[in-house]
Amino acid sequence: MGKTIRIAELSKKEVDKILRTKKFNRLAPVSCNACGYKGFFKRRIFKIDGDYDVGDDEGQNVVRYHMKQQYNLEYIHFKIHRNINYVDVAFCSKCNSNKVAFDIELNDEIFDELAKHLNVPKDKIKSDMQDILKRVS
Ligand SMILES: [Zn+2]
Repeated sequence: MGKTIRIAELSKKEVDKILRTKKFNRLAPVSCNACGYKGFFKRRIFKIDGDYDVGDDEGQNVVRYHMKQQYNLEYIHFKIHRNINYVDVAFCSKCNSNKVAFDIELNDEIFDELAKHLNVPKDKIKSDMQDILKRVS
């Protein structure tokens, strides 16, 4: 038997709900690669189900193929939330392109986790990070 894959788009209500989850929305759209817009991005989110492991290239390629065929969406982002696989797509409010760059928001929660992970005080990480950002920007 062949492997199957199921892609189901979340309703607007479900999208609003999941986007309120900090962990899901940690990797979030920041700027449009087509026109440079930075601001509000509309989202479409799809739940991925089936026999493929979306954690590897084969699974991701299958999802990419179906997202292109079914929804004509190419710029997709894979996420795992509560052991469920999702695809997150953002749309530019200005030019409606979905060629949108995602980035990780550096909030306090992230610094807490980094501090724990590196065993370094949070304030030290924050000040080091600011120094680095100053140097590269
Ligand atoms: Zn745009």
